Amino acid sequence: MENILVVDNVKKYFPIEKSFIERIFSKEKTYVKAVDGVSFKVLRGEVLGLVGESGSGKTTTGLMVVGLTKPTYGRILFDGADIASLSSRELRQLRKKIQMVFQDPMASLNPRMKIGEAVEEPLRIHGIGSAKERREMVSEALQKVGLSPSFMDRFPHELSGGQRQRVVIARAIILKPELIVADEPVAMVDVSVRAQILDLLLSLKKEYGLTYIFITHDLSAASYVCDRIAVMYLGKIVELANTDELFDNPMHPYTKALISAVPVPDPRLRREKFIPSGEIPSPINPPEGCRFHTRCPYAIESCRKNEPTLEEILRDHFVACPVLPFSH
Ligand code: ADP
Ligand code: MG
Repeated sequence: MENILVVDNVKKYFPIEKSFIERIFSKEKTYVKAVDGVSFKVLRGEVLGLVGESGSGKTTTGLMVVGLTKPTYGRILFDGADIASLSSRELRQLRKKIQMVFQDPMASLNPRMKIGEAVEEPLRIHGIGSAKERREMVSEALQKVGLSPSFMDRFPHELSGGQRQRVVIARAIILKPELIVADEPVAMVDVSVRAQILDLLLSLKKEYGLTYIFITHDLSAASYVCDRIAVMYLGKIVELANTDELFDNPMHPYTKALISAVPVPDPRLRREKFIPSGEIPSPINPPEGCRFHTRCPYAIESCRKNEPTLEEILRDHFVACPVLPFSH
């Protein structure tokens, strides 16, 4: 299968403003290393998951893919072309092809804008269709996400959380994009309608031949929708594999911890729980060597010094851990 997106050793460092006193003591600039050397490929038509705890750099990675923030280092290729080197005209075309759905639908919608105008907005921005044609397209997009055209004249506050996220999804699909980055799309939606929204995303994928990057901290949601999953920890990918393989044969201690924390309905199937000790360290001064060593029960001396790279341990199964794949 063809790669739609290639993310090549991408980093995003946010500079931290220092106080006057801090500047006297150290001239060196400090950074939040939100994303620190991430590489992955997305195949056309697949759902690739980015999972990990809050603060691991998932959203920042998504923002770079859609071009809303520039990498400090590294390249992002969409359809073979480096996003950073596109002309403004090409960038406009790219904005049609890649869309992002954010976690909070209320924040994504202008409270004073009627639903119809909100869904129509991308069409107007790109100068597509006549007013009448645009209205038709809005009506069709609303129906595709399970909302009747009568929603056009309502305001966001009149809708439920799930309905609002459907509106946001309608707006994301109206330009017929090729890739959608969905950042925690059900995190703020009522638990009872989460599965419906996930099913909607999957059915739209089928209908339009979409590709998704699905960002979530929720492993069960990831297992439901993703073909492959990349597990992130403190700005790096620690493991990447097909979804079934990842759940059947997790190799990185952090992945094992995440999976063991997923609730299972049958208590007899419950795995031994393994929760990493302590808090997730700060991305300003991430631990040297393996970033996970401070919380890892299997860490050996070399883990404190040597930063592991992501290696293909089994076919299509990548792990950044020198200890586990061999000795456990
Ligand atoms: P996630 O989506 O996995 O929770 P984020 O990508 O939002 O992670 O954040 C990764 C790290 O980068 C966090 O420590 C966060 O505080 C920091 N960060 C994100 N955006 C900014 C920003 N604009 N300026 C400074 N730090 C940021
Ligand atoms: Mg996030």
